[in-house]
This record gives sequence, structure tokens and C-alpha cells, in this order.
Amino acid sequence: MLRKFLFLAAGLLGCAFVAPASVNAADAAKLAAPAKKFTLPPSAPSKNQPYALNVVYFVPADMEPFPDYERRISEIMLSLQEFYGSEMERNGFPNRTFGLSKSKDGKRVNIITIKAKLSGAEYPYSGSAGKVLSEVNEFFSGKKAPKKLSDHTLIIMPSTSGNDLDPGGVPFYGLGRNCFALDYPEFDLKHIGKKDQLGRLFTKWYGGMGHELGHGLNLPHNSGKVSDDKKLGTALMGWGNYTLGTSPTFITRAHASILDQCQVFRTTEMPKTPAPNVDKPKEIAIRFLPEGVWICGILPEKNRVEHVLVYYDKDECNSVNGDYDAESFVAKFDKRTQMFKAAIPTNEIHRGKTGVFQIRLRLINDDGTCSIIRYNFDESYKQDVLEPADTKLADIEPPSSKKGKGPAKK
Ligand code: ZN
Repeated sequence: MLRKFLFLAAGLLGCAFVAPASVNAADAAKLAAPAKKFTLPPSAPSKNQPYALNVVYFVPADMEPFPDYERRISEIMLSLQEFYGSEMERNGFPNRTFGLSKSKDGKRVNIITIKAKLSGAEYPYSGSAGKVLSEVNEFFSGKKAPKKLSDHTLIIMPSTSGNDLDPGGVPFYGLGRNCFALDYPEFDLKHIGKKDQLGRLFTKWYGGMGHELGHGLNLPHNSGKVSDDKKLGTALMGWGNYTLGTSPTFITRAHASILDQCQVFRTTEMPKTPAPNVDKPKEIAIRFLPEGVWICGILPEKNRVEHVLVYYDKDECNSVNGDYDAESFVAKFDKRTQMFKAAIPTNEIHRGKTGVFQIRLRLINDDGTCSIIRYNFDESYKQDVLEPADTKLADIEPPSSKKGKGPAKK
């Protein structure tokens, strides 16, 4: 009866999601710290990188590409490639970024330009992504079409708003392994970090492209931990779409782990068979201790999980865009024993508004797919989760504090 709230949900969800664009806060640029200088990478990614992102420029039948788009988009893609690479390195995954098909000198990205069947007005922001995708797929299945470089595709469309200083009108979001971004005449890397109107406009659409690309590369939303925000700025898959190129923006370690298994970051061929789903851990203990949450689990055998991630998501945990505020953690995962452990210190979590929160496991498979397992709670009544009820995992204490003493049990 007093069990006011312990709603425990464990379920497997697919990783495809639609993340509506939310790129209208040019004001965020006012918060700008010193601009980060981007340099183009000296060379293409490793020759051993077998997959590359498909970069498509999709031009409505009644339009032409905006002038100099191949140079402009190339430079922007190379700078995003460099940003992702430097963040992978900072997170301990050196020499890794997403692959791009490039010219021999490495300065131009090979962009696949597709002339669409319909007019610009027939590809509105809402509801036309499916139309665009089916035309793109039809193009790639044509006899003379270039070979698709991977399952991941960025589709850039020229703005149809008719106002060069207020672009828009076309899809701008992630959809599974595809993502949409837009082009406008002054979308040019030369404006990066500038405080004038074109600089602010650039931040909005460049950060937006970097963020939507993240969705197309398997990333959900997340927020930095409290200490990350102080040290590193804004998480790209949080509100980093408003800051990238203008003020410090970063990719969290959890998300670098997702990218580590993403097809276009691979240095070896994809596994021949799809990884199995994991419905739930074989055993799990989620314990609420004075210092935070301590999670130990064991995965069932027969899985192909490479990384175990934990998200601490507050308030609207199950809505499409309710995960911007979810701090993410990488569990310690021993593949030999299939045991994972993660500590979520209370002082690393931003405050929620409603008291409702969700702890979410995201199991990253070796083929880039994932399983998601959700546990829902309320601050007013938190109860440890022990599955099965007599699991020995409940006896494992978190790593000792500096004084050599683990947190006391409540
Ligand atoms: Zn998003």
C-alpha cells in the first residue's frame, strides 16, 4: 500500500528515433566563450577504415544547389570529422572518427548530389523525411548509382524558406541511421566563431548539423555530468547544437563508446550476423546509497555487448525529447564474467523538477545496435531493485572512499 511508486519497467526498445530539430536559440551564442579554432584534418581517415558516411545533397526539382556548395559542405564535413575525431581521442579512443569518401588530396568530400522528383514545397519540415528517404534509396538501387558507403547517410537539402538569413523549411532531424540537415548560401566555415549575424547563424546550423549527424551515427541525447559541464562545456547531444563552433562543446565518454561500435568508425568489417537483443540482465542490483546509486549486474550469456552504459534521466523520461537532461555513465564491464558495475554519484547529477527519474541501461553491441532496459523511480519513494530478490550482487560494495570506507547502507 505504501508502495507509492516503484514502477519497474524492463523492456527492449529499438534504437531508431526521431529527434525534431530545435535550432532557434541563436541567443546561446551570447554565452560564448573563446571560439575554438578548427583545423582541417591533414589526411583522410585510416586506409583501414572500410566504411564511410554517405553525404547526399538532395535538390528539389525546382531548385539548384546553392553556389559553391561542394567546397562549403566539404569544409564543414571535414571540420565535423575533425571534431568527432578529437573528442574520440580525448575519451580514450585514439585515431578514430567517422569515415568520409574524399578526393585524392583529402580536401574535398565526395558529395552525392541527387535531383529530387518533387518541388521544394513538397518536402516540408514535417512529414516528408520518408519521401526523401525512399527517393534516396531508389537512387542508390539504380544500376549506375555509386555504391553506398555504409548504412549511415547524411542528407542535406537547400533551404526552401526563401530567406537566406532565416533558412529552414526542410527536414532537420535524425531518423534511424539517417539524418537531415540543410544548406543556405552563407553556410560557410569562414563564419565559424564570429559574433556577427552570419557567425551566429552559422553556429545555429553548424551545431545543428553536428548534433543531427550524431543521431545518424546512433547517438541518443544526453547531458554532461556536473563535473563535465564545468570542465568541458556543453554536451553535443545535449544543447551542444547551440554551442558547437562558438563555445566549448564535447562528446561524452558514454557516447564515444557508442561511436566506437558504429559502422562508419570501424577499422574492420562488420560482423556477418546481427547481434542478439538482451531483454534484461540475468541479475541486477540497483541500490540507493547516501553518496549515490550503485549498480551491479550480470548479463545473460550469448550476447555480443561491448559497452554497458547507464543513463540517469529525470522528469520526462519516456518522451521523444525528454532525454536531453540524462547524465550518462560508462559501466565497468568484464566480458569474461559478464559483470558490470557503475557508480552514479549524487553530486554528478543535475537537479530534476518533478522527482520522477529513470535509470536506463543501454547495451552497445559489436554491430552498433543496442538494447535498452528501463527502471523507473520517484524521489519520494526509492526502493532498491534486486533481481532475483536474493541476488548476491547486493553484497558487492562500491569502491572505497578516500578514507578507505565504503558508503554506509541505509
Ligand atoms: Zn537531437
